[in-house]
Amino acid sequence: MNMHVLLVEDEAPLREMLRFALADVASTVSEAADADAAFARLREARPDLILLDWMLPGMSGIEFMRRLRREAAWRDIPVIMLTARGEEDDRVQGLEAGADDYLVKPFSTRELKARMQAVLRRAGRGEEEAGLPLRTGDLCLDPASHQVSVAGRSLNLGPTEFRLLHFFMRHPGRVHSRTQLLDHVWGRDVYVEERTVDVHIRRLRKALAPHGYDRLIQTVRTVGYRFSPWEEPGE
Ligand code: CA
Repeated sequence: MNMHVLLVEDEAPLREMLRFALADVASTVSEAADADAAFARLREARPDLILLDWMLPGMSGIEFMRRLRREAAWRDIPVIMLTARGEEDDRVQGLEAGADDYLVKPFSTRELKARMQAVLRRAGRGEEEAGLPLRTGDLCLDPASHQVSVAGRSLNLGPTEFRLLHFFMRHPGRVHSRTQLLDHVWGRDVYVEERTVDVHIRRLRKALAPHGYDRLIQTVRTVGYRFSPWEEPGE
């Protein structure tokens, strides 16, 4: 299956066990031993699902959850927390902080996969139905009303620029080639030259420039474009 799972777990043997268990359902398993490393992985690529150990060194699982849910780009990533027996309070807190489900250690591989499937199914449905507004700073894109605004004042975007920005905001931090952008924003069956992408990127930047948000759309030399809501040192 084409699925990317982020594994946040400080115990290396358990990470290894889970990586092995997930090999046939996940095409990519990235790993982090603590919350800081997990945020670094998140900035590299957006996973489809996070398995989060609740007892981590440094930042706690609950603080991790809260920060994750505060970011528009990450708040709809399904999270299953992994807790130890007897951590009832933690489970309640975790669910209240936005975790989607939990598993009590030790759990079977079968149970893990069943929970993952259920959570992914719910998340997929939620995304289609809700179309929640996406935010980066003062910039807000509302898929439901097809509006883009900065600090509450609406921006005029063409339909292609709107779809481009929507796609970028849903996949922050990742570099997209022109071909990928054509596939996702224009559609696979449409024949458009790659140069067309540059034209629409230019228009989108121009619309965002008065508010300084044009800098979020970065040109990655010889590769394509990246929407980067974070400071990228050395860029
Ligand atoms: Ca632990």
